[in-house]
Amino acid sequence: MPHPTPHGQAVSQPQPPTSVAAVSAKRRRTMQAVQSRDTKPELRVRRLLHAMGYRYQLHRRDLPGTPDIVFTRRKKVIFVHGCFWHGHDCKRGNRQPVRNAEYWKAKIARNVERHWEQTAELRELGWSVLTLWECELPEFDRSTRELVDFLGPASYLSGR
Ligand SMILES: [Zn+2]
Repeated sequence: MPHPTPHGQAVSQPQPPTSVAAVSAKRRRTMQAVQSRDTKPELRVRRLLHAMGYRYQLHRRDLPGTPDIVFTRRKKVIFVHGCFWHGHDCKRGNRQPVRNAEYWKAKIARNVERHWEQTAELRELGWSVLTLWECELPEFDRSTRELVDFLGPASYLSGR
């Protein structure tokens, strides 16, 4: 499975940018396209949770950080993080982009910082937070155990 990298900024028509603002707008659009909500790792976790009998809400915008998966009655949220975008200390997370290295480094540092802030805010509001990493998801048994440990049994409080 190819991992999205910032190298693939292919745009159909190579138009020279007219200004710095145009360049950064284009970059932002690329980021948004790549960093879309329903990423594959997230879908994988959702499928697993569903198969395990859990029911949940998605992307609640009224909560700090718009958590990916929300268990309202349990007051628990799960973030599924792509290793590159969130600066995970792993092989994939440590991959260095060749182009615009400084830009990406700053961007990722902001993502990491923001996630810490959002996690702290959520906890202050009484939510429990679990962050899952893309690189750890293939370890199916471990992921399953981790989810049950975090959420409690699926039947409890009828799902959510
Ligand atoms: Zn990782």
